[in-house]
Amino acid sequence: MDYKAAERIQDLQYFGEFGGVNPSISDSSTYTFLTAKTMFDTFEGNTEGCYLYSRHSSPSNLYLGEAMAQLEGTESANVFASGMGAISAVIMQLCDSGDHIVCSRTIYGGTYAFLKNFLKKFNITTSFLDITDLDAVTRAITPKTKMIYCEAISNPLLEVADIASLSKIAKKHDIPLVVDNTFSPLNIGAAQLGADIVVHSLTKFINGSSDCVAGAVCGTKDFCLGLKDVNNGAGMLFGSTLDSLRAASILKNMRTLHIRIKKHSENAHYLAEQFEKDGLKVVYPGLESHPGHELMKKQMNPEYGFGGMLTLDVGSLDQANALMELMQKEKLGYLAVSLGFYKTLFSASGTSTSSEIPEEEQKQLGLSQGLIRFSIGLDNDIHKTYLSMRHCMETLGILSPVSALV
Ligand SMILES: *Cc1c(COP(=O)(O)O)cnc(C)c1O
Repeated sequence: MDYKAAERIQDLQYFGEFGGVNPSISDSSTYTFLTAKTMFDTFEGNTEGCYLYSRHSSPSNLYLGEAMAQLEGTESANVFASGMGAISAVIMQLCDSGDHIVCSRTIYGGTYAFLKNFLKKFNITTSFLDITDLDAVTRAITPKTKMIYCEAISNPLLEVADIASLSKIAKKHDIPLVVDNTFSPLNIGAAQLGADIVVHSLTKFINGSSDCVAGAVCGTKDFCLGLKDVNNGAGMLFGSTLDSLRAASILKNMRTLHIRIKKHSENAHYLAEQFEKDGLKVVYPGLESHPGHELMKKQMNPEYGFGGMLTLDVGSLDQANALMELMQKEKLGYLAVSLGFYKTLFSASGTSTSSEIPEEEQKQLGLSQGLIRFSIGLDNDIHKTYLSMRHCMETLGILSPVSALV
């Protein structure tokens, strides 16, 4: 597959106004016009390259948007103040009152709550289903369905969606396939596989320094312009605009995304293999035991590996909590939600980022209370990390000690 996203991002050149190697940061909410006629035309959407007001667009946000479009290989991209800002804008842009959505049942808790609870106000309903069951997806589509929505690698169960097949189903019914690719930037080229709209939380791997919240929507030029339309664009009118200073800092971090993703994947793969050998209940798309392993191999860009996320089921919430506290004490990572940081982050999904999903439904999904979601960090010596994690598990009786550890 011809996927040169990292090269495309690195080839983007924007110079500062004094020839700086980074673009100048736009520090204005509003912009002057030389003539009143130009201002009118800009409001009508007829003047390209003119800035109007920074909720509509700003140079720094456009630069980051361009890098996101290069990441996914889409015509265009808009940036948002958060991943949820991006996701909710896309959904509201595509749906009218009374419409219907077909959605994977394992998705980010905030997206789930938005679809299941918030959209009730607008009488928009969602069928949550097993996205790996393509027949079920086809059966769920009605004349009112406005999109198929899923995550490329799902949060927190790490299910792999068959994007090419889902795209075929969506095309057949003339509806867009919307894919949240937050867990697998560079690993999976969602748009290239057939997603019509790709959403990202930039808060996670893409920014990678856990210092801000941001999001993006990648898609056609028409769709992205529509989101910014002054009369009925959900991006423009909901107003979840990213601040220019943050857009500039995220763009700088994106230049090293390819190196970070490779290291996250390498470390996660190493730990997953070791944990599996130890007989632990580990889920990682890079393991042959993962139901989506073959599909992942078909969809992924091999040089970036299988991603930095893995889950470990240690049996009970009490065990999970004890292990996370001990690992934090041993400086192996932080007991925190979110992902994509240089340090390993872990949380018990059922009681944190997926707590919006009722316990009964969690059970049906296979989301058990003892499930710990790990975002594996950029540890320089992952074998040492493994030995320390193992030691923590032995201390708590999750693993029995091995005398001759090699
Ligand atoms: C975090 C996350 C979001 C929401 O992003 P925010 O930047 O926190 O609004 C959406 N989807 C996935 C898969 C996420 O992990």
